[in-house]
Amino acid sequence: IKPLIEVENLTKHFSIGKNKTLQAVDNISFTIYKGETLGLVGESGCGKSTVGRTLIQLYTPTSGKVKYAGEELGGTRGETSKRSIAKNIQMIYQDPYSSLNPRMTVLEIISEGLVIHYPNMSQKERRNRVLELLELVGLNQYHANRYPHEFSGGQRQRVGIARALAVDPTFIVADEPIAALDVSIQAQIVNLLKKLQEEKELTYLFIAHDLSMVKHISDRIAVMYLGHIMELAESEELYSNPLHPYTQALLSAIPIPDPKVERKRERIILKGDVPNPINPPTGCRFSTRCPKAMDICSLKTPTWLEAKSNHFVACHLYQ
Ligand code: SF4
Ligand code: MG
Repeated sequence: IKPLIEVENLTKHFSIGKNKTLQAVDNISFTIYKGETLGLVGESGCGKSTVGRTLIQLYTPTSGKVKYAGEELGGTRGETSKRSIAKNIQMIYQDPYSSLNPRMTVLEIISEGLVIHYPNMSQKERRNRVLELLELVGLNQYHANRYPHEFSGGQRQRVGIARALAVDPTFIVADEPIAALDVSIQAQIVNLLKKLQEEKELTYLFIAHDLSMVKHISDRIAVMYLGHIMELAESEELYSNPLHPYTQALLSAIPIPDPKVERKRERIILKGDVPNPINPPTGCRFSTRCPKAMDICSLKTPTWLEAKSNHFVACHLYQ
């Protein structure tokens, strides 16, 4: 399988105020294979949305690069190629309440991308395409002329998904697509995303703030903390054998469905708050909160290494 997305030493810093730099994302690398879902997990402010926004070309990298199907984003290629990449990479947003224009009907919302990317489509063809998309996401033609406020949260997210799919993308960044929804609705949306992935051979980056639902959709999971990726492994492996102390803490926070089946996990409570990304700790960025921190941890940044086959970690415990 070929990588569809290649992220190489991606860094994204934002200048804020006088001589201050927010180090949102710092020198991270990963790939996403065609047809795969990569889960990207971390607490708010860890840089995961910045990664997502860089992948959809909302942000330009400070350094490093992102490649789509072998082609570097933001490179100096022609307009046609730029447009084709823009069409192929779409986003599903966290908040279906604020990401849909309240003054537009569902038909207009879903049509927007079609108008941009398929300018020769007739109005009738567009309408038919929207009706097809509504069916695809579990809504129907009667929803087409309604406004976002007439829908429940789950239905609005279905509209957001239909909008993302309208232009037939290959890669979708889903930025916490279920975080704003009732727990009862979350599984429905995850299942819908899985079904669509199979039908349309989609590749996903699925961003989440905890590890509770990601397992059900991700093939592999990357864990981020303060702009760094701390660990990356296949989902099963990450859940059953977390290596990084931060991943261990995140996992300890999620409820165990059946205590008899899964090994009992001790809840690990981390001390303090996530440090400010304007002034991150030296060495390992987790060192100020890590229960296993050693002297070397605040002095030297741990290298990213493959501790086991296909299981990567950045931690001095494994160097
Ligand atoms: Fe903890 Fe040190 Fe590993 Fe960082 S490098 S996670 S501080 S043990
Ligand atoms: Mg976010």
